[in-house]
Amino acid sequence: MSAKTLSELRDQVRGEVVAPDDADYEDARRVHNGMIDRRPAVVVRVMNAGDAMAVVRYAREGGLEVAIRGGGHSGPGFGTCDGGVVVDFSRMRSVRVDPTAKTARADGGVTWGDFNAATHAFGLATTGGVISTTGIAGLTLGGGIGYLTRGYGLSLDNLVSADVVTAEGQMLVASEDENADLFWAIRGGGGNFGVCTSFEYRLHPVEDVYWGPMFYEIKETENVLRFYRDFIRNAPEEMGAFPAFQIAPPLPFIPEDRHGDMFAAIVACWSGSPDEGEERFRPFHEVAEVKAEFVGRVPYPAINAAFDGLFPKGIRQYWKGNFVKELSDDAIAAHIEHGPKAPTVSSTMHLYPINGACHRVAPDATAFGHRDANFAMVVVSAWDNPADDSANMQWVRDYSAAMAPYSEAGGYINFMDSDDTNRVQENYGNNYARLVEVKRKYDPGNLFTVNQNIVP
Ligand SMILES: Cc1cc2nc3c(=O)[nH]c(=O)nc-3n(C[C@H](O)[C@H](O)[C@H](O)COP(=O)(O)OP(=O)(O)OC[C@H]3O[C@@H](n4cnc5c(N)ncnc54)[C@H](O)[C@@H]3O)c2cc1C
Repeated sequence: MSAKTLSELRDQVRGEVVAPDDADYEDARRVHNGMIDRRPAVVVRVMNAGDAMAVVRYAREGGLEVAIRGGGHSGPGFGTCDGGVVVDFSRMRSVRVDPTAKTARADGGVTWGDFNAATHAFGLATTGGVISTTGIAGLTLGGGIGYLTRGYGLSLDNLVSADVVTAEGQMLVASEDENADLFWAIRGGGGNFGVCTSFEYRLHPVEDVYWGPMFYEIKETENVLRFYRDFIRNAPEEMGAFPAFQIAPPLPFIPEDRHGDMFAAIVACWSGSPDEGEERFRPFHEVAEVKAEFVGRVPYPAINAAFDGLFPKGIRQYWKGNFVKELSDDAIAAHIEHGPKAPTVSSTMHLYPINGACHRVAPDATAFGHRDANFAMVVVSAWDNPADDSANMQWVRDYSAAMAPYSEAGGYINFMDSDDTNRVQENYGNNYARLVEVKRKYDPGNLFTVNQNIVP
C-alpha cells in the first residue's frame, strides 16, 4: 500500500487510521484471544457508516483482505488479519432504546455489557451472551446463545433489521421487507455478506432475575447430568440453565479449603418473577448436595458480567463446539471422562439448552442450521502461558472428539476455531446451498473472507 493511498484514506474517514508505524498499532492489531498475533496493513476505527463504506471501497480497490471487528471475541481471531484492512467498530458503541416499540438500535461495536446496561434502564432485554465484553455483532450474526434463549430464541431471532455495507461499498438495509435474502443470510451466516454498521433488536420485559452457579462434588456428575437432561426438556421457558465443569475460583462463597478443586456445576437463570426463584431452584438442590452456591435476585446485566474475570483480554484460548440432540447415557459417560480434566480455572464445558423458542422458528427461516438440536455444547480452554498451549488445546480436542459420536455433524460457527473451517458446510446443513447463492449475489469476489467462510 502506498503512503499516498493511506493518506487519502485518512482524508476520507472521520475515525482513526492506525498503520504499523503508529504508536497505537500494537494495541490496534490485537484481539481478545492472546494466541492471535497478526499484523494488518491498517486498522480503521470507524466512527460512522460512511467510514465503513470508505474502508470497504479502499480495501476492494487495493485488493486487500477485510477483517471486521465487532467485539473482537472470535476464537480464531477473525477480527484481525495479516496484511489486510481491519474495520474496527470499537469506537461505535451507542444504543438507542425505543421503550414503546420495545426495540433497540445498536452500533456495530456495541458489547453485550453496553447493550444490557442501555436496555435494562427500561426494564427490557434480549437474548445475548454470558460474558459482557463479547460483541453483539459477531455473536448475533452467528446465532446468539445465552440465558434467555429458551424463552426468546437466539439473538438472531430477535434481529429486526441491520444496516449492511456490501462488498461494493453500498449501504443496504436488511430486514423482512428490504433485501430479504440478505436478511436471511446474515442471520447465521456471520460476517460473510457485508459490514453491519448497526443492528435493530426486539426487546422483552426482563429486569431482575434469579440467578446463580451451584457447585456439586464431581462424583455427582452422572446424577446431575441425568437430572438436567430430563429437567430442562419440560422446564418453563423462563428457565435458562446449563451444566458445566468448573475449578473453584478463590471466591468468598466457596470454602477456602476447596479453592482449586474441580466441581460439577449448574448455572441457572430464572427470568420469570424473581420471587419464585427460590422455589424454581429447589430441584437443583434436591438432585445432590450443593457444596457452594452464589444464588439470588440480581439485575439482568449483572449476570452477564459475572464470569468476565475468567476471560480477560489477552488470555490464550482454544474453542470447539457441537450441537447435541439427546444427552444419552453414553454421552454422559464421555463428559464424566473428559470434563473433570479441564486444565485451568478458565477452561470449561458448557452445555447450553436451545430447546423452546429456538425450535419454533422453521429450519429454513434463517441461515442458522440447527433448529432441531436441544443443546449447544462448547468446550473452551483459556490459559496464560504459551508453554501450556499444546496441553490446553489437546484437552479441548480430546473432549470434542469424544463427544463427536453423540453430536450432529455440524457445529456452531461462533464456537469453531481456525482448524474447523472444513466444517462450514456441515454447520449450515440444508441451508448451505442458499447461503452460497446469496454470497454470489452480494460478495462474488469473496472480499469478506476472514470468517468461517462461505465460498461463492
Ligand atoms: C469470552 C467469550 C464468551 C462467549 N460467550 C458466548 C455466549 O454466551 N454465547 C454465544 O452465542 N457465543 C459466545 N461466544 C462466542 C461469540 O459468539 C463469538 O466469538 C463471536 O464471533 C464474537 O463476536 P464479536 O463481535 O465479539 O467478535 P469479532 O471477533 O469482532 O467478530 C467475529 C466474527 O463476526 C464478524 N463481525 C464482527 N463484527 C461485524 C460487523 N459489524 N459486521 C459484520 N460482521 C461482523 C467478523 O467478520 C468475524 O468473522 C463467546 C466468546 C468469548 C470469547
